[in-house]
Amino acid sequence: MKVLREFDPWKSPLCTCPFKYSLHPYTGCSHFCLYCYATSYIGRKPSVPKKNFIENLEKDLRQIVKGAVVELSSSSDPYPPIEMQLELTRKTLEVLGRNGFRILITTKSDIVARDIDILLRYPSAVMITITTLDQGVAKVLEPGAPPPDRRMEAVRKLSRAGIPVGIRIDPVIPMINDDPEKLRELVNIARDVGALQITTSTYKARGDSLKRLQEAFPDIAEKLRRMYVYEGEKIHGYMYLKKEAREKLLKPVIEEALRLGLYIATCREGPGVTIINAPTCDGSGLVSRHRTLNR
Ligand code: SF4
Repeated sequence: MKVLREFDPWKSPLCTCPFKYSLHPYTGCSHFCLYCYATSYIGRKPSVPKKNFIENLEKDLRQIVKGAVVELSSSSDPYPPIEMQLELTRKTLEVLGRNGFRILITTKSDIVARDIDILLRYPSAVMITITTLDQGVAKVLEPGAPPPDRRMEAVRKLSRAGIPVGIRIDPVIPMINDDPEKLRELVNIARDVGALQITTSTYKARGDSLKRLQEAFPDIAEKLRRMYVYEGEKIHGYMYLKKEAREKLLKPVIEEALRLGLYIATCREGPGVTIINAPTCDGSGLVSRHRTLNR
């Protein structure tokens, strides 16, 4: 197949995702998040549309079983700013829906709300990543992505329209976006605007992303290094915080989500830290709440 792939989280044994396909209309990512994991595999480049993408997708779809979940996108964003002009992801949704596939969108952009008309017609769910409500911190961490209030507004619009939506508070990074009260507030606002699920995880460092964070936050650079490089553990090529530190970081998010009756899941945390109190960790289980399936 040319553009469709079985989802492979870089072979992580800690991934709890169900079987699904992943699809990337764009290579690179113009959001340029400092913590991005993908850059250590594919470099740091702006979003560029793939050539002949729709033609290749239509051919690939003939080779897989209808009804499968296709996620846009696991290691790039399907809604970079250029999508406003190109509408490549919009066309992709139409092709997937028309051919009988289930759609999971994972994005950091409010542009997704533009496509509510298509998403209403096909079984789908949307996960929007919001790591902090602090506009200043978000601007440093995710310089190319829309500010968090616009993303939250997109959650509200999707939910109001009847499209199941969740929020990824992912990653939580020590000393940057880990204030327990602010995390609880984020979960509460997520619930208020209609999110059904929270998926959360701690930041797992790779050499390049840790360096970017250290340069952007020089006051905590040495402590970050100590927590990850010396005190943390190496798991499948990533530097993880030690287990107790990860439990502490995620506790406010998990506790608040449980208290509010939201679905809650962690992502790639491993034994002792993982919780999946949701149909699936990745939000694909929310597709079954789509109104096309519940008429
Ligand atoms: S939106 Fe996702 S893929 Fe794009 S830079 Fe941020 S973390 Fe990386």
